[in-house]
Amino acid sequence: MKIVARTGVPELAMVYIAEDEQGRRLEFAESVEPPYPRDEKWVNIISTLWGCPIQCRFCDAGLQYKGKVSADTMLAQLDALVDVRYPDKRIPCVKWKIQFARMGEPAFNRDVVTVLRQLPERYSAPGLLPSVSTVGPKGCKKFFNELLLVKRELYPDRFQFQFSLHSTDLDERQHLIPAPTMIFAEMADYGERIYGGVGRKVTLNFALGVGITVDPKELRRFFSPDAFLIKLTPMNPTIRASENGYVDESDPALRLKMKAEDFRNVGYEVIESIGELEENAIGSNCGQYLARLGESHLTIGNAYSYSGRILSSNDL
Ligand code: SF4
Repeated sequence: MKIVARTGVPELAMVYIAEDEQGRRLEFAESVEPPYPRDEKWVNIISTLWGCPIQCRFCDAGLQYKGKVSADTMLAQLDALVDVRYPDKRIPCVKWKIQFARMGEPAFNRDVVTVLRQLPERYSAPGLLPSVSTVGPKGCKKFFNELLLVKRELYPDRFQFQFSLHSTDLDERQHLIPAPTMIFAEMADYGERIYGGVGRKVTLNFALGVGITVDPKELRRFFSPDAFLIKLTPMNPTIRASENGYVDESDPALRLKMKAEDFRNVGYEVIESIGELEENAIGSNCGQYLARLGESHLTIGNAYSYSGRILSSNDL
């Protein structure tokens, strides 16, 4: 894997584009969450597939699928980020969050579990916090069972697991995420087991998009607030989400606040995650994928608009 470009604002978020010997490309990113300094919280986001076969209707990372990223290449993405910030591989951050979420549904790649097994030995990082989020595809039993084991063994109380739901209407969800996925009862059962009453509750994520049904009472029928919390984010302004009319151009923060109240009223703990607008401009937010820009004629005013130069490999 060779880094061919990078862009961003080093103090906030950076996106790296890398290529393998077959010419396949992937991206990985790092960010901080102001006002916290990097040593307080540092987020790394890596790719687990070359493209993604699911091709969700709001995600730019679902390009043509070209296979699974090997454990070595996942670790190489982390090494590249760590080498810039902490070349001695000692990461002193209170929280070093590693998200397997840039490009690819992680449940399609059992090497994600291999990487999870290697992380504690590879880095000196007391704040290591792996984070796996999935749309819950069907037919990935082996992955989910292995993930459960590694979480129990190595990360009993420092692990984040998320189901990305996005809609509480199953037909609508199927349209947004055009692949066979677990039904809510199956997700609830697995979520309760992986939480196991220890550490952080399982997150149910909704990227609030225009015209998408999110009904807290419907969700409450399946998911107990004792084991699940809700995370609400605005639908990020990706090219796909904009083309499909999901991006709220008016006041996403207000919509999010109102929906959070509805969830609290039925007993859930809610995280309202608005994020940094500058990250949209850089293209480092969830579902964003810089390479998609080259194929689209669409201009999104508040996204992928970072004016800084994309550095070439000669600059690195
Ligand atoms: S949101 Fe995740 S599962 Fe859906 S296309 Fe993007 S990378 Fe794949």
